[in-house]
Amino acid sequence: MPNLAELSSGKFDVAIIGGGIIGAGIARDLALRGARVALVEKGDFGSGTTSGSTRLIHGGLRYLEMLDFGLVRMDLREREILLRIAPHLVKPLEFRIPFVKQTAWFRAKMRVGLLLYDALSYDRSLPGHRFLDTAETLAGEPALTRDGLNGAGSYFDAQVRMPERLCLENLIDAAAHGASVRNYCEVRSADLKSGGVQSLLVRDVDTGEEAELRAKVFVNATGAWFDRVQTAVSGTASRRLRTTKGIHLTCGPMVNKANVLFSPLDGRLFFVIPLLGKTWIGTTDTDFPGDPTGVQAEEADIEYLLRSVEPFFPAVRSLPIYSTNAGVRALVRQEGSESSVSRVHRVEETVPGMFSVLGGKITGYRAIAEEASDAVARRLGITAGCRTASQALPGGGAAPSNGLGALYGSRAPEIAAFSGPCGDIGAQARFAIHREFCRNLDDFLLRRTEFAFAPDLGAAVAPDALEAMAVELGWNAAAQETQWRRYQSAAGRARSNAVADRPPHTSQKQ
Ligand SMILES: Cc1cc2nc3c(=O)[nH]c(=O)nc-3n(C[C@H](O)[C@H](O)[C@H](O)COP(=O)(O)OP(=O)(O)OC[C@H]3O[C@@H](n4cnc5c(N)ncnc54)[C@H](O)[C@@H]3O)c2cc1C
Repeated sequence: MPNLAELSSGKFDVAIIGGGIIGAGIARDLALRGARVALVEKGDFGSGTTSGSTRLIHGGLRYLEMLDFGLVRMDLREREILLRIAPHLVKPLEFRIPFVKQTAWFRAKMRVGLLLYDALSYDRSLPGHRFLDTAETLAGEPALTRDGLNGAGSYFDAQVRMPERLCLENLIDAAAHGASVRNYCEVRSADLKSGGVQSLLVRDVDTGEEAELRAKVFVNATGAWFDRVQTAVSGTASRRLRTTKGIHLTCGPMVNKANVLFSPLDGRLFFVIPLLGKTWIGTTDTDFPGDPTGVQAEEADIEYLLRSVEPFFPAVRSLPIYSTNAGVRALVRQEGSESSVSRVHRVEETVPGMFSVLGGKITGYRAIAEEASDAVARRLGITAGCRTASQALPGGGAAPSNGLGALYGSRAPEIAAFSGPCGDIGAQARFAIHREFCRNLDDFLLRRTEFAFAPDLGAAVAPDALEAMAVELGWNAAAQETQWRRYQSAAGRARSNAVADRPPHTSQKQ
């Protein structure tokens, strides 16, 4: 990873602000085209909205109702590409729409919707939709209510268990092709001359050290932070986004399929999904004009989801809630209810010399990155085309069939070279430091590995990880204490006060 001096003395064609999935995708795309790329991220890679998503790789049945056919088609095409280039991270998943006390009109609407969804994914590798009777529905999903159940619709989409790692693998590949990428490095302002961006002032978040980052072209890929960064760079207040919050609950195991449900409270579509042996429930959609960095699930969000799920899965109230997770959507500003705002993205030159991505989904990240990279490449006079649709991500080759293979894909055998003290955890922690830009204990437990999905949010493995990282990064006792506190605070946010305070009759805290 480059230090600040290397960033400020580097000769870059393009500097990208934001190391979420979209910035990472652009960095990879342009590095593969031969551009000299720098990318800076103010937190850890993937720690923004990318880690707050529902983790579905889907066209989005819901968007058909909004007549966003172009968006659905693009995402269904991208779903197929991701299944090919990241088979270790993106897996097919069966979705069910249980018909519980639904009208004939609702069933007819679903029938048409699923037909259209299949038609728009004409090049799919996944099975098409079908309808199940009540017995088959219950055989697959025994926890579903029997009260008013009358079969279900079934179709396939996909799931990315760890979008954080999808993001990371884009950056690992970008770096392998010469990109300089740095986390914990924040863009503070820009130097604008003759109306165009000349350089960015960046600050090391840990040391406070500042440096100038020069490039020929800049990209603002800061998602929900777009307006803040656009304002800092242009010096003029920007209000292009509508930002909405969505939360998820991680509960004990209950479902086998991804269930598409409509809240009896307001008719909104939401999901109850199996994820890493747990049940993942979400999401909400409420305006959130605040700083996305501090987003957190509140009691009202949790209660909304539980009350929405209960009529379909009465057992939900007796499940332990292990953690909550929240993210902020960046939607191109539009009036109307939160859920009615289009998810279509835009790529624009929002300041001369700076291209920006507004909106977008994880599913479409590669195509969005291609569109933004095309614009940058045209400006730079780079003629090489995009290669990201056909070139597998670093772990996308043949993977060993063990737990490490499921997480690291074909890179899993590389971890053996890092074996030593603290067993498997130590080896993965050292691998994360030397191969995956890992700087902190919480980076490792929350975003390099799946440990934070355990009911204890990774507390059992944290001491080994801390010990291995302390040796590797030279942390003294005070630094280890700071690291421990950082992790506790991140885990505490995930557990959320609202969950901790929940009375025992509504959830059992682990
Ligand atoms: C609740 C919810 C559920 C979702 N579910 C899905 C889903 O199931 N499927 C799907 O496809 N999409 C889903 N999405 C959408 C998807 O998560 C986002 O579109 C995607 O993650 C956006 O990626 P990004 O890179 O634009 O933003 P981010 O991941 O937020 O990355 C932007 C980065 O910019 C950094 N940054 C900000 N300011 C600065 C600065 N000054 N200097 C340096 N760096 C800075 C931030 O720290 C951040 O890491 C969901 C979104 C939400 C909120």
